[in-house]
Amino acid sequence: MDSAAHSPQDSPQVVTGTGGTGGMGVFDALVIGGGIAGLQTALDLADQGYSCAVVEKDASIGGAMIRLSKVFPTLDCASCITTPKMAAAAHHEKITLLTCCDVDRLERVNADEDGGSLVATLTQRPRHVDIEACIGCRKCEYACPVLTPDAEQGGFSGRKAIRIPFSNAIPQKAVLDVEHCMLCGKCAEVCPTQAIRYDQKPEQLRLEARAAVLATGFRLSPVADKRQYGLGAIPNVIDSLQMERLLAPHGPYGRVLRPSDGMIPDSIAYVQCAGSRDASMGVGYCSRVCCMYAIKQAMLLSGSLPLADITIYYMDIRAFGKNYEQFYQNAKAMGIEFVKAKVASLDPTEGGAVTVHYEDQTGAGVATREHDLVVLSMGMLPGWQPGQVCPVAIAADGFIDTVAPKTLPSLTAMPGVFVAGAAAGPKDIVDTITEAGGAAMQAAKYLAARAANAGLARTPQARTEKASIQEASHG
Ligand SMILES: Cc1cc2nc3c(=O)[nH]c(=O)nc-3n(C[C@H](O)[C@H](O)[C@H](O)COP(=O)(O)OP(=O)(O)OC[C@H]3O[C@@H](n4cnc5c(N)ncnc54)[C@H](O)[C@@H]3O)c2cc1C
Ligand code: SF4
Ligand code: SF4
Repeated sequence: MDSAAHSPQDSPQVVTGTGGTGGMGVFDALVIGGGIAGLQTALDLADQGYSCAVVEKDASIGGAMIRLSKVFPTLDCASCITTPKMAAAAHHEKITLLTCCDVDRLERVNADEDGGSLVATLTQRPRHVDIEACIGCRKCEYACPVLTPDAEQGGFSGRKAIRIPFSNAIPQKAVLDVEHCMLCGKCAEVCPTQAIRYDQKPEQLRLEARAAVLATGFRLSPVADKRQYGLGAIPNVIDSLQMERLLAPHGPYGRVLRPSDGMIPDSIAYVQCAGSRDASMGVGYCSRVCCMYAIKQAMLLSGSLPLADITIYYMDIRAFGKNYEQFYQNAKAMGIEFVKAKVASLDPTEGGAVTVHYEDQTGAGVATREHDLVVLSMGMLPGWQPGQVCPVAIAADGFIDTVAPKTLPSLTAMPGVFVAGAAAGPKDIVDTITEAGGAAMQAAKYLAARAANAGLARTPQARTEKASIQEASHG
């Protein structure tokens, strides 16, 4: 096999900022997380002239939103409204994107010198592809003989060991999965730019910034944690993000099919609060968006499968946002059945259907029904646990703590570090975007006060500015 000649980068390397404030790897703001919250925050800061580094752990920016089908309550195509934001961030001269990147440490240094700086130590995992050389032609992907389940498609279809992460990924650069690669060399043979780097090693990066915004989002609680719902082992019990993929225009099958046997389902059920408001799962809070996304998915399903019966088993319907109640009423008018019930357990049947055992809350008592496919509205958990990485305070629910939730909701307990989107708690896209704008504004205010302070050191005005910094960072 023709392994590329590039030698591994063992020593720490500094990333060059674009339009930074004074040298290599120095940015005004560091944004951790490249979902819609991180992208909106970075765009709002960059449009004001601040340089930003966006650090994303995945191979593409876009977060959960780029993986959705359509969005409530407008039913806009998720990809059509997320892709322009992703592209705007990628092309902004003040924004540097770092993908496949983990944050190892975020700390404030020299805090006694006018607030000091935030220093982030990062590890960039190898793509095994030279990102500068790759032109995204996909020839490697077509040539690769290895097929593995594609997590980007809910595990329902296959992907190659080397591939562009998904059709509208940004950057459009290949990534090779060493766990499944057979090292057959076929990708390197066909690559027109000799971009394959089998020997690429992780790189240590060090970034400096004056402010940071945590936009690390959420993850769904695993179905495998839910004993009474089959521990993830019942084939036709899926989670809500998997259903988003079945409904998406570029989904695994191009239409909604039952995963176990490819049958078109005649009866689909939703189990609400499957991982929220449930002390046994350690999630006592409401995940806030599940009612609305279940209603949205049910409406989309009744559009694509007009003859199917769709049932939503719910404890309460929480349709709290603008036009959300109307959206719920529209779903009822479309014939979607809402059953106020607590689902006790799910069982597989021989033919592939799923038996739902539930207690009707309107007095009908314990009952059982069969559905061809069951979707679990799992809970939203924090996307990132900072642990020892960064001394930011965490709230009792596990999300980043906001120290002035009523007056400055993006403020964290760490001076100069702000939070946006689902990193601070479950929320929908509207609230995420609003909060990202707020976090960018708070960070900009903090940066402006810091700049003023640095220019006017040891004057009475500087002391006023210093007070203003403290106000911006502590509420
Ligand atoms: C099934 C489902 C359907 C939904 N449908 C809708 C809808 O129709 N309408 C609506 O308004 N809302 C919907 N939502 C909610 C919506 O997905 C969220 O509001 C939105 O994604 C929050 O954006 P975010 O950027 O805060 O978080 P995320 O989208 O989770 O993005 C966070 C990003 O941070 C990255 N990250 C995490 N940790 C780190 C780290 N340590 N270092 C670097 N990067 C990191 C992640 O990889 C990710 O890219 C839905 C949610 C679900 C689960
Ligand atoms: S690695 Fe090579 S073959 Fe694969 S997408 Fe990039 S340029 Fe094309
Ligand atoms: S070397 Fe690995 S990634 Fe490349 S074609 Fe062979 S199996 Fe696929």
